[in-house]
Formats: sequence, structure tokens, C-alpha cells
Amino acid sequence: MLFAEGKGTQVTMKTEVCIIGAGPAGLCASIFAAQAGAKTLILERNTTAGRKLLRTGRGRCNLTHTGSVEDFVKAYGPFGRFLKHSLYEFSADDLQQYFAQRGLDTRTEEDGCIFPRTDRASDVARILIDHARMLSVRFLCGRTARSIEKKQDGFVALADKETVLAKAVIIATGGVSWPATGSTGDGYQFARSFGHTIVTPRASLAPLVTAETWLGPRREASLTGLAGVAVPSVVIKARIANRRLSASGPLMFTGTGIGGPAALDLSRLITDFLPDHANPIKAAIDLMPQYQIDQLDKEILALCSQHPKKTAAATLANLLPRSLVSSLFTQIDLSETILAGQLPREQRMRLVKMLKELRVSIVATCPIAQATVTRGGVSIEEIDPKTMESKLCPGLFLAGEVINADGPCGGYNLQIAFSTGHLAGKAAAKKLLAERPTNR
Ligand SMILES: Cc1cc2nc3c(=O)[nH]c(=O)nc-3n(C[C@H](O)[C@H](O)[C@H](O)COP(=O)(O)OP(=O)(O)OC[C@H]3O[C@@H](n4cnc5c(N)ncnc54)[C@H](O)[C@@H]3O)c2cc1C
Repeated sequence: MLFAEGKGTQVTMKTEVCIIGAGPAGLCASIFAAQAGAKTLILERNTTAGRKLLRTGRGRCNLTHTGSVEDFVKAYGPFGRFLKHSLYEFSADDLQQYFAQRGLDTRTEEDGCIFPRTDRASDVARILIDHARMLSVRFLCGRTARSIEKKQDGFVALADKETVLAKAVIIATGGVSWPATGSTGDGYQFARSFGHTIVTPRASLAPLVTAETWLGPRREASLTGLAGVAVPSVVIKARIANRRLSASGPLMFTGTGIGGPAALDLSRLITDFLPDHANPIKAAIDLMPQYQIDQLDKEILALCSQHPKKTAAATLANLLPRSLVSSLFTQIDLSETILAGQLPREQRMRLVKMLKELRVSIVATCPIAQATVTRGGVSIEEIDPKTMESKLCPGLFLAGEVINADGPCGGYNLQIAFSTGHLAGKAAAKKLLAERPTNR
């Protein structure tokens, strides 16, 4: 800090880089700005840093995913090209190495998701905060930034009790999901005040609401059992405007529709279409993707032949949760008392078809406040992908979820926060150091 000067109750502070938001993007930006030699300060509305980070991966923090930079670029779809440079500068391997060097090894799960070996998001947050403090980053927690203005000689950020004068500002305020963690969309107002376009925020990685009441507890008391029922591996396919979309992974019935990674990933692909889609989006869930249709038929036939005296429903519970089997039987008007040995071929085929192609009509995502991430935000067209600097306002940088770039489930969104935060912090510091008078 260069100086702090009291003026009534408002304190004026001078710094080189001012970061708004101490989530993973802001923390990472602060570390790399300070490490590059810039005096750095963070304004954070919460009394502690990284509140959302602590909730990630159900407290275990799915840090990132296995794969090369090119794999990541592909996974990010329309945002891959924009993110590519930041990923090359700070990849998933770099991220793991960063934590390993600070005593936190990582573990890769079967599905490619990478977690800290301790399974504690709090360890991830602690390392980032301690490192930033060690580099003399000044934390002003419990301070909400209210406005940012560009002046001739830099920026003025107004917080509750502080006026921060800075040479560069990094907006790392997150999206609008889970607002109780502090991300309430303030960054959009700040960016807008500099002329930036905000792509309409939409719920992404969000449970989907379906029209089928039998999937949940809304109509028939007898079908209440489906909420909370999970299937370990499904493929969901949808078609919108001649585009075939598909997502795979575990699925969970939610009571109002479907959730779990497969549904959340599909939500990311269809969220832009849902508000304007007059009719529900038709989707088909393959509940048994490990089998081809004829293989599944043979498998069911074999199970029924092995247990001819058991009910067909109980026999099928070898393949799927019992409550789901009951619901499916009801859907095709099949009695649950029918014995496996007496299951007619035609009924078996209808069952197989339903297991391979359970049709649902998607009417909405859950509200954006409950979505895991926000799709939308500051337009990537207006940000330099080599530095994360605004193309409209020199000295203003953006990092993390405030940018219109999001990824699928599996650690891809934290990787965006870390990669863009790293790049913004480094680039902001580099710019300032180049401009710093040499006689200081
Ligand atoms: C429940 C949950 C679980 C998740 N799990 C995972 C996971 O396992 N893996 C994964 O990759 N992603 C996960 N995500 C997504 C991931 O957490 C976010 O993408 C990531 O936190 C975005 O980082 P960020 O720093 O850009 O924003 P945030 O983490 O939202 O941080 C923004 C910060 O800015 C502060 N702020 C906002 N406005 C102001 C203001 N005006 N003044 C001062 N401070 C302000 C906020 O208080 C907040 O601390 C999860 C999200 C949720 C909600």
C-alpha cells in the first residue's frame, strides 16, 4: 500500500492493482499480480475470502479435470478459442503443480475429475489466501465495491468506507448464481459502465424441470418415490433447431425433473434456447447406455429365465433402482405382480425401448440463483484473450465467472477462474511495471 489517508469516515487508499472479488479468480489474480511485483489490494464483500470456493464439489472441491489444453479447449465449446491462451499460460497441470508445491497433492478420479487429496475445499482456499498474504496482498474484506470510475491517472473504486485509487482494476466478481455466496452480478454493472456488452445471464449446470408429473411427486402419491433416485450412467439426447445435443454421466430424479451431472451438462447446452422455446424441448434418456437394444433384451431375458418365479419388477431391480422400475412398469401399464417367467415378449420389448429411450419434455431450468454456474456475462468479443484486458477500457481487466465463458461439470469452471485470474493478474502487473517511473 502506498498510503492510507483518513477523510472523515471515508479512507482513501492508493494501490497499483485493485481486484474486486476474492473468489478463486480474484485470489489467483492477486497472487500473480503481487508475485510480478505490483502492489495489490482486494475488495471483498464477504467478511472472508472464497466463500463459494468452500462449497465447491460438496466441500471437496473438484479443482480441475484431466486432459491436455486442447481437450479443455474442446470441452469449452464456443468459449474454447477465447480461453486457449489463458489455459496454455496456466493449465490444469500447472494448477496441480501449484498446489503440490504448497503441500496439497491431488487425486484423479475414474471420471477424470481432479480433487485435492485431502478432499477439502478449505485446504485449497487456505493455500490461496496464505500465499496472497505472504506476498503482501492487502485484503479489505467486508467491503462492497459500489462503483469504479476511470480517471486520467487510473481508476477510483468506491467501497463502503474506502476510496481506492488504483492504476489497474481487475473485476472478478463472479456471476449471479448462489448469490448468498456474494456473487450478485455487481461486475456486470461495473463492466456496463465502461461500455461493455453483457450477454444475458442464464442458469447453467442446473437441474432441469420436466413436464412429466410421473417423474416427481407432484401428482400421484404412488409415484413420490422417484425424487432422489439416482442412475449411475445415462446418455441424454435432445434436438434443437436441427442440432443434436447430448450429455452423459450420472442422473438423479429431482421431484420436479432431472438433475445430476448428465442433466446439468445438458442444461448448459440448452439453456440459451429455453426461454424463447415456445414448446418444451424433447429429450430422450438412455438409462442403460452400456447395452445395445438387442443386448439389453437378451440381458433381461436371461435375468427372467434365471428367476422365473420372482416378479419381473424385482428381477429388473438387478439393473435399476426398484422405485424407478415401478414407475416404468406403471408407464407401460405393466403389472408389478407379473412373474419374470411370464413376461410377454411384447411387454419386454416395450420395457427395453423405454429403458433405452425414456422420453421427457424439458420446460425450464431451475432458477439461476440455484444453478451451479452462470452462462452469460461480459462479452468475450470485448476482452483481449492474451491479457484479459478490456478492449474498451485500457487498465481494466476481467477474470472468472463474470466473463461470458463457462464449462461443463467436472472442474472446468474452477479452471476458468484460475487460468483467467492468473493471466489477468500477471498482465495487469506487467503493464504497470512497464509504465512505472524508473526513479522510484
Ligand atoms: C455449489 C457449487 C459447487 C461448485 N462446485 C464446483 C466444482 O467442484 N468445480 C468447479 O470447477 N466449479 C464448481 N462450481 C463453480 C465455481 O465455484 C465458480 O465457477 C467459481 O467459484 C467462479 O469463481 P469466481 O472467482 O469467478 O467467482 P466467485 O467464486 O463467485 O467469487 C466472486 C467474489 O466476488 C465477490 N464480490 C461480488 N461482488 C462484489 C462487490 N461489489 N464488491 C466486493 N466483492 C464482490 C463475491 O463476494 C465473491 O467472493 C461450483 C459452484 C457452486 C455454486
